[in-house]
Amino acid sequence: MPELPEVETIKNELLPHVLGRNITGITLHWEGIVRQTSVEEFRSRVIGQSITGLSRRGKYLFFSLSSGEILVMHMKMTGSLLVNPSDDRFTRAVFHLDDGAALHFRDPRKFGVMWLGGDESAVADKLGPEPLEGDFTFEVLAQRLRNRTAPIKPVLIDQSVIAGIGNMYADEALFDARIHPMKPAGSLSKDEIKRLHSAIKRVLRAAIKNKGASVRNYFRPGGDIGTAHFEFRVAHGAGKSCPDCGTPIKRIVVRNRGTYFCPECQIEP
Ligand SMILES: [Zn+2]
Repeated sequence: MPELPEVETIKNELLPHVLGRNITGITLHWEGIVRQTSVEEFRSRVIGQSITGLSRRGKYLFFSLSSGEILVMHMKMTGSLLVNPSDDRFTRAVFHLDDGAALHFRDPRKFGVMWLGGDESAVADKLGPEPLEGDFTFEVLAQRLRNRTAPIKPVLIDQSVIAGIGNMYADEALFDARIHPMKPAGSLSKDEIKRLHSAIKRVLRAAIKNKGASVRNYFRPGGDIGTAHFEFRVAHGAGKSCPDCGTPIKRIVVRNRGTYFCPECQIEP
């Protein structure tokens, strides 16, 4: 569920709490969250390290450690990172920091994962371009959609095509660009790709400004919710009216994902 704007918000708001801090201990309430051959090895390679940096790529977080290794985390469906939360019912792991703070990996559904890696490239190289970076141009998007027969919706949320877009922001961007989610990706006109390219940037930037969308289980590190979902125009809006034409928003299932769109504004191919 947390997509680029949510993970970007976690990174931004967590940074002042963790940068330069030493990890003095780890409490694992659920060992399955650690995707490493040995939990003990994970523990021994993380404890005692200082956090020298925190960055995001797609929906991944990379904590740089003083040893030179990278602690990789993915929030998956319901993960959040919380600093000193009052409630730890769904906490799966706690990182104890040298200033006394506790960083909790909260994850009700237990899909979230973390592991230690040598560098970021093992993860980052498999991902498509960052949609908010300057090198994500109209031409790059056009080239990535070329010859694809799959509907545009699943192509947009394929992390190897573009990094960071998930179900919510794909629906929002397609509505913004007036493109039907079932339209074959390779059949988009030059004009539609132009609209989609700017819609993706617009939708993601607006959501970051609103600190992400707290539709279900996403919380910001301080425990507050994000407010991006209050501005959603179609995502999770079945039964509501289209903000532009008043037609009821429709929900269909595309490749197993609930997909919301306006049947009037986004004409069926
Ligand atoms: Zn409409």
